[in-house]
Amino acid sequence: MTRSLRIAIVGAGMSGLAMAAKLLRAGFSDVVIYESADEVGGTWRDNTYPGLSCDVPARFYSYSFAPNPNWSANFAPGDEIQAYFVKTTSDLGLRRLIRFGTEIESATWDGHRYHLQTTKGEHDYADVLIAATGVLRKPQIPDIEGIAEFCGDAFHSARWDHSVKLRGKKIAVIGTGSTGAQITSALAGVAAPLMLFQRTAQWILPLPRLPYSPLSRTAMRLVPQLNRSSYHLYRELMERIFGRAAVEPGWQRSAVSAVCRLHLQLAIRNPALRQKLTPPDDPMCKRLIMSASFYPSVARKDVHLITEAIERVEQRGIRTTDGALHECDVIVFATGFDARAYLRPMDIIGEDGRSLSEAWAHGVRGYRTVAVPGFPNFFTLIGPHSPIGNHSLIAIAETQADYIVQWLESMRSGVVSSCAPSQEATDEFNSAIRDVMPSTVWTTGCNSWYIGPDGVPETWPWTPAVHRQMLAAPVRAHFHITDGARA
Ligand code: NAP
Repeated sequence: MTRSLRIAIVGAGMSGLAMAAKLLRAGFSDVVIYESADEVGGTWRDNTYPGLSCDVPARFYSYSFAPNPNWSANFAPGDEIQAYFVKTTSDLGLRRLIRFGTEIESATWDGHRYHLQTTKGEHDYADVLIAATGVLRKPQIPDIEGIAEFCGDAFHSARWDHSVKLRGKKIAVIGTGSTGAQITSALAGVAAPLMLFQRTAQWILPLPRLPYSPLSRTAMRLVPQLNRSSYHLYRELMERIFGRAAVEPGWQRSAVSAVCRLHLQLAIRNPALRQKLTPPDDPMCKRLIMSASFYPSVARKDVHLITEAIERVEQRGIRTTDGALHECDVIVFATGFDARAYLRPMDIIGEDGRSLSEAWAHGVRGYRTVAVPGFPNFFTLIGPHSPIGNHSLIAIAETQADYIVQWLESMRSGVVSSCAPSQEATDEFNSAIRDVMPSTVWTTGCNSWYIGPDGVPETWPWTPAVHRQMLAAPVRAHFHITDGARA
């Protein structure tokens, strides 16, 4: 006996689209994607700042099932990536599944299925609920005194105000993460001057952006196997070098560290500036920044690196604790995101009326990055402890989507009616994570969005290959299952 399943995905960003594509390919047709915005793309739709690009190689930062021979460079610019998501959505027939401009307010499990309520007051139901809401979607503007008094333009990097003219303006950029570094490289020479407010220096790996020639793009188009091979080649390289360097001491970590230190030494000749740009922690403790243009930009005469702490914002600019007022016309907050927002403010209610917020009140915990005890038929993409960092999140989301499809096939065939991971299996997974975390680079003494409120990193402490192994097939003994016959 086969059962028809209604599947709701929340979010039409990179991971939600991957999930929907895999569901259609597996023959599931009753699929709806709820998307609060009016276009697909998630973070690539929301981020439009100057210099935006992806520092994961484009041939690997692509869906395995939708290779793109047309990438313009080894590291693709943001608008090209967004165009890729828009095109893939249309090519794979996903657009018709999406309910744009519709936000899910709550999802409540009634013992058999989820009742969904949108913020517009509409109702729907789903046998299976899949959260594809992303990680870094809620911009974080620090609580600096006086921001409201500033007379110029001020905005977060993920909410870029394109109506503001930048050329010749005095521009302050606060933050030196991956975003701040890209914006600095793009606006150096445009701003007059650019003031970069650095609280903590970051390590930079000098990976240059290299355009792909028309000839190589034609070769990729004509010989699809070439594209597939380069996907796998980049995946192996990323996993064997950065994947390993992050999670265990060894030559990979030493090599990354040596290249970063040498880069700083060679690129910044002024000892005082080099001192300011020397991070207090080890490379990769914070997310490694890939940029061959950041140091040359910071070394320019019209770029000022300011390391004194910000005291407050005033009408005319930013006052630092040494008493100096740095006058500016524009302030850009490249200050990151609330990495713990996850699905919130959506309210998900599982068994016994318990909400996900209650379940996660003392920390975000999941089973192998894809499920949560007490929440049957609920799955997460890029959920807690997913392998993030310097890796392709697309590959990670695909691994999770393939795993989820396997559970849904068991439901469709009538073998399983509902499933949720047991608390024991989830605890075991989380304690294994804590046991190995000390050998990761994230515990070498720095603060970043990788670190949870209890001081323990919330990242994946093994290589992405281990993630693939753990999610190769469901371990039924780890789940509470209501079988199809009893349902
Ligand atoms: P981020 O890595 O969290 O960096 C935020 C920056 O803002 C840090 O330099 C931080 O300083 C600074 N900051 C925060 N509050 C501040 C305050 N009150 N005063 C002064 N400085 C303050 O954020 P992000 O750069 O937006 O990057 C977030 C993530 O997005 C990355 O880790 C990455 O996963 C992703 N990303 C990826 C790419 C890509 O190419 N693939 C590009 C951009 C972003 P401290 O270091 O002292 O905290």
